[in-house]
Amino acid sequence: MPLAHASSEDTHPAPDRDGGRISVLLPVPVGAAFDYHAVPGLDLAPGDYVRVPLGGREVIGMVWDAPKAECVVAAKPIRLRDVIERFDLRPLGAIHRRFIEWVASYTMTPLGAVLRMTLNSPQALAPPKSVTAFAPVAGWLPPQGFRMTPARTRVLGMLAGGPPLAMAELTREATTGAGVVHGLKNAGALMTIDMAPPAPFAAPDWRRKGVRLSPRQAKAARALCQRVAEPVADQGGDGDGEHAAGFSVTLLEGVTGSGKTEVYLEAVAAAVAQGRQVLVLLPEIALTAQWLERFRARFGVAPAQWHSDLGSRQRRLSWRAVADGKAQVVVGARSALYLPFRDLGLIIIDEEHDGSFKQEDGVLYNARDMAVVRARLGEIPAILVSATPSLESVTNVRDGRYRHLHLPDRHGGAELPAIHLVDMRTDLPPAGCWLSPTLRGALEHTLGARQQAMLFLNRRGYAPLTLCRGCGHRLKCPNCTAWLVEHRFQDRLACHHCDYTLSLPESCPHCSATEAWAACGPGVERLAEEVTALFPEIRLEIMASDTLAGPDAAARLVGRVERHEIDVLIGTQIMAKGHHFPLLTLVGVVDADLGLAGGDLRATERTYQLLAQVAGRAGRGREPGEVFLQTYDPGHQVMQALASGDREAFLGAEVKARQDAGMPPFGRLAAVILSSAHEDEVDRWARALARAAPRVSGLAVLGPAPAPLSFLRGRHRRRFLVKGGRQMRLQPTLKSWLGAIKLPRSVRLQVDIDPYSFL
Ligand code: ADP
Ligand code: ZN
Repeated sequence: MPLAHASSEDTHPAPDRDGGRISVLLPVPVGAAFDYHAVPGLDLAPGDYVRVPLGGREVIGMVWDAPKAECVVAAKPIRLRDVIERFDLRPLGAIHRRFIEWVASYTMTPLGAVLRMTLNSPQALAPPKSVTAFAPVAGWLPPQGFRMTPARTRVLGMLAGGPPLAMAELTREATTGAGVVHGLKNAGALMTIDMAPPAPFAAPDWRRKGVRLSPRQAKAARALCQRVAEPVADQGGDGDGEHAAGFSVTLLEGVTGSGKTEVYLEAVAAAVAQGRQVLVLLPEIALTAQWLERFRARFGVAPAQWHSDLGSRQRRLSWRAVADGKAQVVVGARSALYLPFRDLGLIIIDEEHDGSFKQEDGVLYNARDMAVVRARLGEIPAILVSATPSLESVTNVRDGRYRHLHLPDRHGGAELPAIHLVDMRTDLPPAGCWLSPTLRGALEHTLGARQQAMLFLNRRGYAPLTLCRGCGHRLKCPNCTAWLVEHRFQDRLACHHCDYTLSLPESCPHCSATEAWAACGPGVERLAEEVTALFPEIRLEIMASDTLAGPDAAARLVGRVERHEIDVLIGTQIMAKGHHFPLLTLVGVVDADLGLAGGDLRATERTYQLLAQVAGRAGRGREPGEVFLQTYDPGHQVMQALASGDREAFLGAEVKARQDAGMPPFGRLAAVILSSAHEDEVDRWARALARAAPRVSGLAVLGPAPAPLSFLRGRHRRRFLVKGGRQMRLQPTLKSWLGAIKLPRSVRLQVDIDPYSFL
């Protein structure tokens, strides 16, 4: 990560209040703040949330303090429009404002588009609604004819000497209905009062005892707590960093099951003990049921959550509690990084190597990298956690930029599973099947011993390709360069790149043959069919993003595996992460080569990480685990490294390959993607861009070439790759190159700094 150009805190002047002129940044894709008029008495400060008019509508924005030059709007309105209102909320801190600017500048995204990631819960700006509570009226005596029933007595008894209670709580505690309470109120026995709403998140109890750490774990935990508790001098400023712990990044590396989570929860406890907030970023937040359970076991309460599956009420509560500092620990997906923390003191990025931290639409950013930036700006520690750290982080450790803690063994003496390679060239499955005799034998053995197995295939649906036996016609997406994937359970074919779906046609649209469709290749559904045919009596479930209807369904499924209500779990990569199933002793990887195709920069690294992670599900309990990788290329360095457990050898080879090619992390990369609905148009503009390509020494512009998905969601795509040295900043060069060409509206330009997806 290029951390050198982080702007230092609060070097910007205060907003210009001359004549009531004030800069307001709006959550729209514009790169500058707008000027408004602040009516006297509104007393606005940078970071204040305000409502302002924009055209014919009203929008919520933020008072901004960026340098004047960046704030001037091209066409100055003759008369500035008034700020309508200021919300009664703590202003967003200077650190967060500088963070928004940093992300915008680094990702080459308009400032307003980055602000939108913070201002994404406008309902949360209104103060939380007060609740009506009931209290007894002192000295009340039942009037003539008013019968003191047992229920009425219980209600009054409940309230006597205690705090006022809201209706729901009161009726629950007194085991009665609302009618009884209203009756008492009408008789003058109770009065209503407005109370502040209860805090939605109870404070985590950091004093509770965690598990007894092994000496090695305890040593790592101590080192982390030290990072958290290292106070530096008072920072002053506007409140974000009163007792900043100091910036540091620590990579916590440890094999699957070594207790990394238990160890970093100690650092969480340390930060909470200091009264500061903690953010834990997890990939695949939908699958964190087990993580939440462990948090609850450690701290007695649930943390606040933040991810796209939250309902709007929950979003509002979480956002507001984070802003008010009432949510001390937030666990979330990458977007949680933009929550308006009041006093963030620690960031943990679990499974830091995971590709899903890269956001691939809207603002293109890598949440792991931006979390490190956020930590640096806030002068707080960041902890990166992984069993298979990214080459970026490994390199940062080697170069002395990151600290390193290592847990080399599984907790409680559990052994890492033995990994076997199955050579699919000789160990052939029967025709139309996908499991080799070796893996079938292992399955039989495991199920016979009443243990659990997991089969991994990173392909949703029934079959990745459907073709006509008569003429060879293949069913493909009309909007993308992609085959349609059959989903038999849902009885449809679907494109995995856009939302196009189709029912399987009766006859081939090309040769009119009927009943001639042939499914080619396996998906998880087809694999389930094969396993069911082999072992009709076993209990089997599929775990894939399209077979689970959200986090609750995922949590239920995980619970069933834990209770041994399932014998075989078949799934895609969402199954690979985090889960701890003590009875699971066999992992079969059906197509270990799958991720290696495609020539992606990180294909090898990613395959290694994914397979190591899947393998790590096996043998976490008392029984040892075994892993079978089915491959057509057992000599491949990834397969060899996995089988021998020699991660260092693998890393060495991968480092050398990247170094030789000048690829990240030893060089910098940006992708520029041009797209249009018309192929000739995109080609014309790609040529124009190519002619204007910068000629700077040490920088190479490759392309234009059709992007691997050259047709996506109805648009033709051409791609440039820009490659520069490690110390080079690509953004200024990109800016002057791309800024010099005025594209028509029908041509879209996307810049992806540090690209992860090479589609
Ligand atoms: P990792 O995050 O490295 O995969 P976890 O923290 O999930 O490892 O630990 C794996 C399992 O071992 C979990 O069930 C965890 O509760 C348990 N565990 C780890 N360390 C200890 C310990 N010191 N005492 C008791 N249980 C532990
Ligand atoms: Zn499509």
